[in-house]
Amino acid sequence: MRTSQLFTKTRKQAPSDETAINAQLLIKAGFIHKEMAGVYAFLPLGKRVLDNIAQIIREEMNAVGGQEVQMTTLQPKDIFEKTDRWDDAKVDNWFKTKLANGTELGMGLTHEEPIVDALSDYIQSYKDLPLSVYQIQSKFRNELRAKSGLLRGREFLMKDMYSFSRDQAQHDEVYEQIAAAYVRVFDRLGIGDFTYRTYADGGIFTKRFSHEYQTLSDVGEDTIYVDEAKKIAVNEEVYTDENLEKMGLKKEDLVQKRAVEVGNIFPLESKYTDALGVYYIDENGKQQPIIAGCYGIGVSRLVGMLAEHFSDDKGLVWPEAVAPFKVYLARLGDDEAVVAEADKLYNNLTTAGVTVLYDDSDKRPGEKFADSELMGIPYRVVVSGRTVEGGAHELKGRLESEARLVSSDEIVKALS
Ligand code: ATP
Ligand code: MG
Repeated sequence: MRTSQLFTKTRKQAPSDETAINAQLLIKAGFIHKEMAGVYAFLPLGKRVLDNIAQIIREEMNAVGGQEVQMTTLQPKDIFEKTDRWDDAKVDNWFKTKLANGTELGMGLTHEEPIVDALSDYIQSYKDLPLSVYQIQSKFRNELRAKSGLLRGREFLMKDMYSFSRDQAQHDEVYEQIAAAYVRVFDRLGIGDFTYRTYADGGIFTKRFSHEYQTLSDVGEDTIYVDEAKKIAVNEEVYTDENLEKMGLKKEDLVQKRAVEVGNIFPLESKYTDALGVYYIDENGKQQPIIAGCYGIGVSRLVGMLAEHFSDDKGLVWPEAVAPFKVYLARLGDDEAVVAEADKLYNNLTTAGVTVLYDDSDKRPGEKFADSELMGIPYRVVVSGRTVEGGAHELKGRLESEARLVSSDEIVKALS
């Protein structure tokens, strides 16, 4: 991609009403556009980051047998009446709408009921289980406060997976496989070292705990208690002496921290499957309840979380795994030899499979460097009259203070 083709530009200021660091940085760098509080559009650079994160999640969900689907945003009321959720006063953040004839509809708040309903046609025997289905789709929630940029949206992208098992033992096995996949996702995103599996409330229909994945951050809304040695944490909502004993944790080993919930995994027992009348037939021809689980990851929240964490006074500092481009190629000047050399390097890198944002504009060198730093591109390569003459160009990592002089061929080798 050439910057002359990229329609977004970097800007000096974020909107004055935008208080969250993640949104300020992402807006200044041209990654997102604020439609209104809690509602952001993803522009080309932001969309690439979002897609990179989604792809990592997709690969890890597929690796544990997840089958990807895409459910609908418009949802019929009757299935939510069967589970007593439609009129539940505690669900106070639901966007609802109506058909022209007055029929009420819900708008993608969560998808347990639609998924169970869709699968009811296909789950018949114990041979159909276990089964895991997921989607990566926009969710809508009328959040009371939406001041944290991408961390709390009213429209946001979520990965939600649902598992269905024949009994508790099979469920537990699937649950732990998915938990292990979550660890791989957060490791690949570069936040594994400070993201903790965290005991949390299981809700009203299970005596079990659910688990959140909490990433340490000063901007987090949640308070958790971390056991660093065991790499586990406890959400304050379940932090009682009695619970700590059940978890095998000791108060003196726990340190209080603030964190952002980037994902959660949840035992549902057979609440939704029972309510929607979905059962399976076991080996003896007997009808049995289906044990379900649900597993969320905040995909767009992760963009905000990563922007918030991986940044400095110059701008964003994307981990390579999610960066919109790996290399910012800054061409200084438009002498024929410089253009020829920069074009050649751009082609060679691209051919080698390296993603390159090629700054072919006539901006001043300082502006180009500032842009590449604000955008957080992991590597910067500078091709100028001087470097062409010397036969070696400048290569610098985003956090390195000094550039190295490296030949074109070595740059391609080093970066591919
Ligand atoms: P929270 O406690 O942060 O309100 P939740 O417990 O309601 O979230 P779930 O409904 O289980 O979350 O959603 C799964 C994941 O989706 C969460 O772990 C979080 O990462 C993300 N998520 C939830 N709400 C939002 C939101 N308003 N904006 C962005 N991401 C969200
Ligand atoms: Mg939560």
